[in-house]
Amino acid sequence: MRILVTGGAGFIGSHLCRKLLGEGHEVICLDNLFTGSRRNIADLQENKRFHFQFHDIVQPLRLDEVEQIYNLACPASPVHYQQNPVKTIETSFIGARNVLDLASVFGARVLQASTSEVYGDPTQHPQQESYWGNVNPIGIRSCYDEGKRAAETLFFDYHRQFKTEIKVVRIFNTYGPNMQKDDGRVISNFIVQALEGRDLTVYGEGLQTRSFCYVSDLVEGLCRMMNRSANFTGPVNLGNPGEYTVRELAETVIRLTGSKSKIVCQPLPEDDPKRRKPDITLAETILDWRPSVPLEEGLTKTIAFFKRAGADSPKEER
Ligand code: NAD
Ligand code: UDP
Repeated sequence: MRILVTGGAGFIGSHLCRKLLGEGHEVICLDNLFTGSRRNIADLQENKRFHFQFHDIVQPLRLDEVEQIYNLACPASPVHYQQNPVKTIETSFIGARNVLDLASVFGARVLQASTSEVYGDPTQHPQQESYWGNVNPIGIRSCYDEGKRAAETLFFDYHRQFKTEIKVVRIFNTYGPNMQKDDGRVISNFIVQALEGRDLTVYGEGLQTRSFCYVSDLVEGLCRMMNRSANFTGPVNLGNPGEYTVRELAETVIRLTGSKSKIVCQPLPEDDPKRRKPDITLAETILDWRPSVPLEEGLTKTIAFFKRAGADSPKEER
C-alpha cells in the first residue's frame, strides 16, 4: 500500500514508518520538523519506498493517491505544545481537517493519534473510552487537550456526514528510543539527567501517576487498529496499564542507570493530571492487543539509546 504518515519524523512516527517499510509498503513521511528530526529517519532515507516531504500540516495537502493515512503530526510534550499554543490548536484541528479532506478525495482510511489528555485530570479511574473527561477549556494544557478533542469531533462528523473511514486511538504516555534529548517529557528528562549526573527534577511531590507504554507495543497497536474492519472506528485506548508514581519512576531510572543523581522537587505545573491509567479491555477484546514490554525492560532499552546518542544535540539536525 501507499501510506501517508504525518509527523513521521517524530518519536512515534519514525518507529511507525520503519515498521510499515518492513512490511513492504511505500511510505510518505510528511513533517515540518518542529519536534521531529532528520536523525530519526536517517536510515530510512536509503529505502526507495520511503519519501520525505517537508510540509506543515496546517497548509492544504497535495499528494498523489494514498490508501491509508496515520495522522501523528502534533507536538506531544507539554513543553513543546505550550511554546506556541495557537499553532498547537491549529495543527490539531486544521491538520485533522486537511488529512480528512485528503482521505475523502481518495477514499483512504485515516487514523487519528488522539490522546489520554482528552480525559484531562480524570475523575474516573482507570479511564474507559466511555468517559467524557474533565478538561479545563482555558488552561495552559487546553491548546493540546481541546485541540485533540475538537479533532476527534471532526473525525466523527466526517464519518457521519461523508462516510469517511476513520480510526481514532487514544494514546497514553509512550516512551522509547528516538525521543529528543530536549523533549521535556518525564522519561527522557529523567534518563538524560541521570546519565549526566544532574538532579532528577520531580514536579510537585511526585505522587501523581502515569502508565508508560514502550513504543514498539504502541506501534503494533496503531497498525492493528488501522487494519481492523471498517466498522470499528474507536475511540480505543492504547497504553500500558502498569501505573507508577513519578517518584517511583525517578527511583527506578536512578537504579537502572547506576547514577549518583539525587531527586529534587520543583513546582507542579498548572492542571497536571493527578492519576492516569488506561482501561484497555476494548483493545484486548477487539484488537487482540496488549502491551508486552515491562517498564524496566523498556527503560533499559531507552537508557541504551540515550547513551548512544551521547552529548550531541539532535536539535542541530532538525
Ligand atoms: P513528537 O513531538 O516526537 O512527534 C510529532 C511530530 O509531528 C514531529 O515530527 C513534529 O515535527 C511533527 N509536527 C508537529 N507539528 C507539525 C505540523 N504543523 N506540520 C507537520 N508536522 C508537524 O511526538 P510523539 O510522541 O511522536 O507523538 C506523535 C503523536 O502521538 C502526536 O499526535 C501526539 O499528540 C500523539 N500522542 C503521543 C503520546 C506520547 O506519549 N508519545 C501520547 C498521546 C498522544
Ligand atoms: N514530570 C516531572 N519531571 C519532569 C517532567 C515531567 O516530574 O522533568 C512530571 C509531570 O509533571 C507529569 C508527569 O511527570 O506529572 C508526566 O509528564 P510528561 O510531560 O511526560 O507527560 P504528561 O504530563 O503529558 O503526561
